[in-house]
This record gives sequence, structure tokens and C-alpha cells, in this order.
Amino acid sequence: MKIILDKSKCIGCGSCTALCPKIFELGEDGKAHIKEARIEEKTENEELEVEKLDCAKEAAEACPVQAIQIK
Ligand code: SF4
Repeated sequence: MKIILDKSKCIGCGSCTALCPKIFELGEDGKAHIKEARIEEKTENEELEVEKLDCAKEAAEACPVQAIQIK
């Protein structure tokens, strides 16, 4: 599975980092950031392949602007 973060949508509310600090952290730009993410060249989204979603699912559901996608 893949966790995808669209930083352009993120408003820096901190919900994902509170619910899932293992995967998400707030960057110096005040926006969420996926730890150890790969940057997708075309979209500049952050992507991370994971075997288990763990708390990322809750984080995606809690994001008020749907910036976190799970595929
Ligand atoms: Fe950004 Fe969504 Fe995380 Fe809030 S929950 S910091 S809007 S990605």
C-alpha cells in the first residue's frame, strides 16, 4: 500500500501528526511531512510504500482537507 500526501492541500492543522507521529511530522514550512517519503517528480506529492497502514488510515480520515490518500 502507498500513503500519498499532497502538501499543496495541507493547512498544517497537526491532526495527522497527533494521530500518527510514527509516519507524519510537521515540517519547518508548517505543513505535514511523511517521514522517509519519496517525492513524486510530477506532482511533488510525498509517497511512502508500507506493508501495514497502522495509524495512517486514521490520519487520512482525520485530515480536514483530504490531503492524505491511501492507495
Ligand atoms: Fe495537513 Fe491534513 Fe495533516 Fe492537517 S491532517 S497537518 S491538513 S495533512
